Order: sequence, then structure tokens, then C-alpha cells
Amino acid sequence: MKKPGPLLFIDILTLFPRMLEAPLSEGLLGKARERGLVQIQIHDLRAWVEDPRKRVDDRPFGGGAGMVLRAEPIHRALKSLGVGRRLRKPWVIYLSPQGKQLSQPLARSLLKKKRIVLLCGHYEGVDERIMDWVDQEVSIGDVVLMGGEIPAMALTEAVARLVPGVVGDPESILHDSFSESSLDYPCYTRPRLWKGRPVPDVLLSGNHRSIEQWRQKTAQEVTRLKRRDLLTSRKTVPK
Ligand code: SAM
Repeated sequence: MKKPGPLLFIDILTLFPRMLEAPLSEGLLGKARERGLVQIQIHDLRAWVEDPRKRVDDRPFGGGAGMVLRAEPIHRALKSLGVGRRLRKPWVIYLSPQGKQLSQPLARSLLKKKRIVLLCGHYEGVDERIMDWVDQEVSIGDVVLMGGEIPAMALTEAVARLVPGVVGDPESILHDSFSESSLDYPCYTRPRLWKGRPVPDVLLSGNHRSIEQWRQKTAQEVTRLKRRDLLTSRKTVPK
């Protein structure tokens, strides 16, 4: 029987490929790539520079601090990854502190795109004119990092772990924090007694119904304590 192809394709455009190569090759994500469940390719933006000095950045017009990534190499990279074609067009995301905040509903909605290109900015960011080819800006929070690589890694992991088969037991994704407007329940493992603190009896009872009830109840308590806002907010899938 023919093996099904990857369910998610992510291309990452970066000035610093080595920042991404090792983390994206480790753990469950590395295994998912080996097994062909997801295809993640890391591209060095310098490969699309025509300038013999291989300059991807330049000084900002109007003066001021820092450098700006030039639009032309980014545009050439996007075109070679299929942006602008009619069929199987990828969804282009620019990682930016000005974007929509990454969340579980956003990760779920991105999984449906199937083909995603992630553009990592650096220095002062990218030439604004490239935004005509960007479908969405995504931020990892109201904080400014030095580059888009760590946000790209966070987004890649958040979306890839939702691909069926990437996380061994699909149950664990069902109960994750934010999946049902609440946080996850507390977990315990061996030993039963550690530094005088026992594991709750119900978890050792073998009674699955009671365990499930306890987990639901404690998930609600934990949410009330740590993130009361989740109990009142409606579940919405961002565009
Ligand atoms: N001058 C920009 C601003 O204030 O909006 C910040 C540029 S930042 C130093 C350089 C790059 O890091 C950005 O182009 C973006 O790709 C990435 N970056 C920084 N913070 C980020 C965040 N919170 N979420 C996503 N990407 C971020």
C-alpha cells in the first residue's frame, strides 16, 4: 500500500539556519520528520541574494539604528516556495511582535493550512513592502526578541504536535491546557510518597470513573486559581 505523504509542510526562511536545525531534529518532532508525518525545511535567506557581497540587509531609509532585511531576496525566496502560484499556495506567516498572539486555537487553525512558510525577521525587521506577500503576522507575546527563529520554532512545534501520529497517544492532546477552556489537571508519577507528600489516593484506586471526575474537578480548580479569564472567555478560532 502507498505510504501517505506528510500532512503538514513548513518552510522556514531564516538568516541563521543553525539556530533551528538541532532543535527541529530532536524529540518527537525529529521522529515525526523521520517518519514523514511532517516535512520541515529550513532555508538560508542568503541563498536568494544576487548581490555578490551576499547582503541580505541594508541601512534604513531616514536613518536610525539597526539594519533592515531587504525585500528582494525574501521575495525571490517566497516565489521559489510557491507563493503567487494558483494551486497548493502556501500560507505565509511573518513572525513579528506586532502580530496576532500564538494560541492553541490559532495553532489548530494553522494546521488546516497544510503548507506554511515562516519568515523570520532580524535586526530592525523586514522592508515593509514585503508585507504584500505575507498572509498573517504571528507573535509569541508582547515582548521583543532578537529574531524570529525562536518564535518560528514555537509555532512549528505547536502546529506539528497536532498532526495525527506525531504525539504517540492522541488522548494527551485532548486534555492539554486550552483545549477545553481550562488548564490541564495535575500529574504525578513514582514514587507514591516523596518528601512526605503522597500521591492523591484516587489516582491509585484503579477506579477510572472516579479518576476522570477527580481530573475534571482539579482542572477546573487549577484554572480558577491560575487563569480565571479562561473560564469566562469564549472559545474562538482566530482568522
Ligand atoms: N523593530 C521591531 C518592532 O519593534 O516591532 C522589532 C524587531 S525584532 C528586534 C527582530 C525580529 O525578531 C522581528 O522582525 C521578528 O521577526 C522577531 N520577533 C521579535 N519579537 C517577536 C515576537 N514577540 N514574536 C514574534 N517574532 C518576534
